[in-house]
Amino acid sequence: MRRALDTVVVFLLLPSVLAFTPLPAVDLAIGARGVATNDSTCLAIQQAISSASSVYYPSDPQYSQDIWHFMNSSIQYPKCTVEPGTVQDVSKIMKILANSTSPFAVKCGGHASNQGFSSTTGVLIAMTRFNKVIYHPETSTADIPTGVIWDDVYAALEPHGVNVVGGRVSGVGATGVTLGGGYSWLTNLYGLTVDSVTAFELVLPSGEVVEVTNDNKFRDLFFALKGGFNNFGIVTKFTLTTYPQGQIWAGLILYSGSHWDKLADATVDFQNSNTDPNANVLPSFNQYPNGTQVAAVLVFYNKPTAPPGLFDKFLNVPSISQNVTTRSFRDFILSIPSNAEAGFRGAFKGVSLAEFSPGILKTILAEIPTWSAYNGANSGVFVSYDMEPFLTSIPKHATPSAFPHDKFASPMNIYFAWTSPDSDGAQMQGIEQTAANIAAAAKAEGQDIDSLTLYPNYCLADTPLEKMYGNNVQRLKSIKEEYDPLNVMGRTGG
Ligand SMILES: Cc1cc2nc3c(=O)[nH]c(=O)nc-3n(C[C@H](O)[C@H](O)[C@H](O)COP(=O)(O)OP(=O)(O)OC[C@H]3O[C@@H](n4cnc5c(N)ncnc54)[C@H](O)[C@@H]3O)c2cc1C
Repeated sequence: MRRALDTVVVFLLLPSVLAFTPLPAVDLAIGARGVATNDSTCLAIQQAISSASSVYYPSDPQYSQDIWHFMNSSIQYPKCTVEPGTVQDVSKIMKILANSTSPFAVKCGGHASNQGFSSTTGVLIAMTRFNKVIYHPETSTADIPTGVIWDDVYAALEPHGVNVVGGRVSGVGATGVTLGGGYSWLTNLYGLTVDSVTAFELVLPSGEVVEVTNDNKFRDLFFALKGGFNNFGIVTKFTLTTYPQGQIWAGLILYSGSHWDKLADATVDFQNSNTDPNANVLPSFNQYPNGTQVAAVLVFYNKPTAPPGLFDKFLNVPSISQNVTTRSFRDFILSIPSNAEAGFRGAFKGVSLAEFSPGILKTILAEIPTWSAYNGANSGVFVSYDMEPFLTSIPKHATPSAFPHDKFASPMNIYFAWTSPDSDGAQMQGIEQTAANIAAAAKAEGQDIDSLTLYPNYCLADTPLEKMYGNNVQRLKSIKEEYDPLNVMGRTGG
């Protein structure tokens, strides 16, 4: 989540860090781009689509925009990119792809942390032209087109005084978050993003366009899309329940590493004592290869003023800087400089915990220096360990979904960033090992984490399906068999 911001703030406030931070690898300059401008699938698409849509080749500036990803390591170089402008064109594109053997991918915000999930060496479908958010006051819902980032959604809804359960920082795509689950600042109040979805508009692998809801004949698909990503077709729109949204009290507090222990205590205390669904925190502990340690804590209260005392354990720790204030929800999201952390190679690895116990926080703080040194020895930029101490009551909002979340889990996400493709293997091994160490420590203190599913959006590409989807795997395979018997969507990766 807010991994971006800590780096950014550190870069702004501690310029000495830069001296130790290698510049990001600029993958676009590698020259590995596909050059086959006469690719037959691209040409077939170009000839079939309407004037509302376009195909771009490596020499087009728009091609570079389309293939952009938050992490350089998620980029691949397709033969062409296509920006569909209508659902009918998506249907035509899907039919052409189904009749070809070309790999392809579908991309929204490009924040997937695995290569090949929303990137490809074949045809990349960039959904950016699906960008008109529509609010329906009569049903308290909003139609979210699948080319927007959450910033666009909040901008469209704020004038109406409403909001949706969406991403927590600037720049993240609405579609990947939603199709993966969706942890939000509003999760304590309303559950995950998938729990607010009332309908999907889906282009099936056959090219048929269907509306998928819990109440029509596509009920199985409705379940499957809530965590099932791109496995069942291309989603062109989804509808979310809206909730009233006023001013909030929120901001970022940046601390030096000398206060880690106090912030770990504050995190444990917040998880154990907070019962207010309006309140949320997102503490992150980070270390850079030069040894600099920082913590960045985002604090959030969904009303203009926070109750006295609720956040004191964080507020009373001396900070380097803080911008906590009463503001609009959108202003808070935009104030988090997440995009400035883009441009490195990277990996996410989540751990689902039963709780952020004192012992687990101690383990995490002990892990960081070790893995920061390892990260630094392998073209590292930083390591970041994020805690998400949600209320244990959030499962009461859970709806039947591919990603099971009806049992409480405290998600945490580990993020390693580095620059050289040569370090990919070592960094992946490192992030796997530190996650395994934390999981082992949780088990050693009696946490039943084997029964908890991993959040799909924080998983490495090789994560076994059962770890994310638990007992739902067989049902999901049956649904897949019914709607995609030729496994067309299997060529999208992810
Ligand atoms: C800086 C940052 C902040 C984050 N913050 C949060 C957060 O607050 N909450 C949270 O839950 N997660 C968060 N995440 C994780 C995030 O949920 C995932 O990275 C998510 O997949 C990104 O969605 P996207 O649309 O940007 O990604 P993309 O890379 O565009 O897509 C992700 C996946 O969705 C699929 N997909 C995209 N569009 C379609 C479509 N139209 N039809 C079918 N499949 C499609 C892609 O094929 C791919 O598998 C964050 C990640 C980053 C890097």
